[in-house]
Amino acid sequence: MDELRDFRQFGHKLIDWVADYLESPQKYPVLSPVSPNEIADALPAVGPERGKPLDEIFADFQRVILPGITHWNHPNFLAFFANTSSPPAVLAELLAAALNANGILWKTSPAVTELEIVTLRWLLDWMGLPASWFGMILDTASTSTLHAIAAARVAAAPETRDAGAPGGLVLYTSDQAHSSVEKGAMALGFGRSNVRSIGSDAEFRMRPELLREAIDRDRAAGLRPCCVVATVGTTSTTSIDPVPAIAEIARRENLWLHIDAAYAASAAILPEMRWILEGCEHADSFVFNPHKWLMVPVDCSVLYCRRPEVLRQAFSLVPEILKTSDGGLNMMDYGIPLGRRFRALKLWFVLRYYGREGVARVIRDQLAMVRELEKRIAASEGFEICAPALFSVVCFRLRGSDEANRALLDAVNGSGRFFISSTVVHGRLMLRIAVGNMLTSRATLDELWRTIERLSAA
Ligand code: PLP
Repeated sequence: MDELRDFRQFGHKLIDWVADYLESPQKYPVLSPVSPNEIADALPAVGPERGKPLDEIFADFQRVILPGITHWNHPNFLAFFANTSSPPAVLAELLAAALNANGILWKTSPAVTELEIVTLRWLLDWMGLPASWFGMILDTASTSTLHAIAAARVAAAPETRDAGAPGGLVLYTSDQAHSSVEKGAMALGFGRSNVRSIGSDAEFRMRPELLREAIDRDRAAGLRPCCVVATVGTTSTTSIDPVPAIAEIARRENLWLHIDAAYAASAAILPEMRWILEGCEHADSFVFNPHKWLMVPVDCSVLYCRRPEVLRQAFSLVPEILKTSDGGLNMMDYGIPLGRRFRALKLWFVLRYYGREGVARVIRDQLAMVRELEKRIAASEGFEICAPALFSVVCFRLRGSDEANRALLDAVNGSGRFFISSTVVHGRLMLRIAVGNMLTSRATLDELWRTIERLSAA
């Protein structure tokens, strides 16, 4: 086959190109400089009638596509939750694409299901979570949380499955929760008016006494409290909700407890950081994204569930064509997707290549770098720290107006050297520096801080 000859020839070249790219993504600007529609306008409006050689396609990739890439692999990408891919994971993606194994059923590729089960058990062990939890890989935390809320809904109202969801179900989460929680509740018909945004304290943690009051008020009004979502590592400031107290309320009130630890859970692989998951053993479900801080490229989100039979109740529906009698576990019974990519393969490559120690070393080093930066910012007269840097993110601001901070953010990102982000919490604008890339070093942060000081003086 011609395409295999091309693949062999071109594949070697491409692996070299990828290795060079991963070695020094700094050759590219961290933020794509293009304007909206520039990439689309540079491409033909209709698809090609005749095929083209790979050389030509790759030349266009370099000419048209690459300029439209914001380089998450760049060490100076310090926005949102910066993260990193890793060479072993990239190779695993190549294998997964080549195998094209679609885990719609256990029998359609037993290894797809079983590697998922095994790697997710390894992670439970590494994070000190209950070994008995069921785990499945989905694309994103947003999808995982949607599944968790659907399980919560059917647990509270089993009639949902056949008769549809009753009105008046209420979900509780903090005012710092990720928007995916409210979006999930919205999509599942709770109605935004039945999502309670519980206030947070000065360190951005949900206030359990406000949760209790909100539940009491809703019960008195004849509503049906159903689910509480606590966060370990909130999106803006990486704060940790008081999970033990929230779990106790959930137990007493018979609410489904979902934990969103999408970003932060990876840190619990470090023995000295295990404390961050205190109380999470009581959760009914728990989401964590290896694609955020575990060297696995997007997408890979893990949903754990203490009560998988409830997920089945919410999602299992087996048409004749998919009935099997082999006794294998079919992941389709626990969630929305039927087709499933072999995502566990990249996770397995990463866990085996680095080992628990190697993963811990990368995260530990990033935590240390961020603490050093936090100290430096705290010691800087013109700046203040806005939230404790518990993980790999530091939130700070220039002492001055929001406008001055916004101008500083624009100047830093406009320099073309760095990409940092901002947020508004409790009405205050904060600048965020997030370290998550293996190439980000102390020298990167030193240059960034000197740049920020210089630009703020200007
Ligand atoms: N939960 C938290 C705490 C997050 O910070 C994010 C994204 O940053 C999400 C959920 C959503 O993640 P995803 O993009 O995987 O849906």
